[in-house]
Amino acid sequence: MGDILTLTQKALKDIDESASSIELESLRLQYLGKKGSISLLLQSIGAMPLQKRGQFGSDVNVAKNKISTQIQEKSKLIKEQLLEKKLQSEVLDLTLPGRKHNKGSLHPVTLTLNRINDFFISLGFEKVKGDEIEDEYHNFEALNIPKSHPARAMHDTFYFPDGRLLRTHTSSAQIHQMENNEPPHQVISPGRVYRCDSDLTHTPMFHQVEGLWIDKKITFANLLANLELFLKTFFEDEDLKIRARPSYFPFTEPSAEIDICCVMCEGEGCRVCSGSGWIEVLGCGMVHPNVLKMMKIDNNKYQGYAFGLGVERLAMLYYGISDLRLFFENDLRFLRQF
Ligand SMILES: [Zn+2]
Repeated sequence: MGDILTLTQKALKDIDESASSIELESLRLQYLGKKGSISLLLQSIGAMPLQKRGQFGSDVNVAKNKISTQIQEKSKLIKEQLLEKKLQSEVLDLTLPGRKHNKGSLHPVTLTLNRINDFFISLGFEKVKGDEIEDEYHNFEALNIPKSHPARAMHDTFYFPDGRLLRTHTSSAQIHQMENNEPPHQVISPGRVYRCDSDLTHTPMFHQVEGLWIDKKITFANLLANLELFLKTFFEDEDLKIRARPSYFPFTEPSAEIDICCVMCEGEGCRVCSGSGWIEVLGCGMVHPNVLKMMKIDNNKYQGYAFGLGVERLAMLYYGISDLRLFFENDLRFLRQF
């Protein structure tokens, strides 16, 4: 009995003095483990006189419970102390100023693209995506621009070693549309296009929106009416004056360029419109019968129009921006204004 008391007191003292979970675990093994002091005491029961066994067993169990409870409590205490220490070392200063996040905004070219797309989608056009890497057939031949055609000089572009090229206009998307779908076609195709051109008013990459509407009763009058409505909506001016000038594109016949009354000088004549009072904003025309034939569309049954507009040009006119390069310099002082 004396042995048990001494053992218990020593165990409780050891546990109390232990300073870490590891130390505590080794004490647990030392006293309560399979080969621990308490287990050895219990095993010694067999060698005892029968009448003493009951009292001895009960005393050992009391000691075992005391040690076990003490270990549990100490373990809890050590964990709490650890947490407390951690909290103190990771103290947060809630008075420090937070990190500032600047609010982004859409690029003016994206804003303009969205406005153009929204308008034509509201007229029933479907948006299709074309590839920026094209072959000569889709960029030129299928659009009635054969190899020797002088119009190719206007479209000097970037070629890959295998003969493919960066598309010079989004018009190539209309070829894919006609190849892969049956008429009627009513699509717009916005995207990037490329030309070997770089000066004040030209950048090697710019954005276009191509439009194509082919159906059984599409006329030049539809084309003019739709584009007039578009330009008046885009420039938010119901009285905007518009004129169509005869022009030439290999893939439309007849072809026209659309001018709007100069938004800077209202027709008086200024630097932006070179004194003419008019500004060219887009090219358009009736899809050339040769293009329809190549796409195996019966041109006695179906006719249609196509148009292409430069997104940067419309953005410059709408926002009153005089330098095209501002769009691509990504100067935050410029971009933050939109
Ligand atoms: Zn002007």
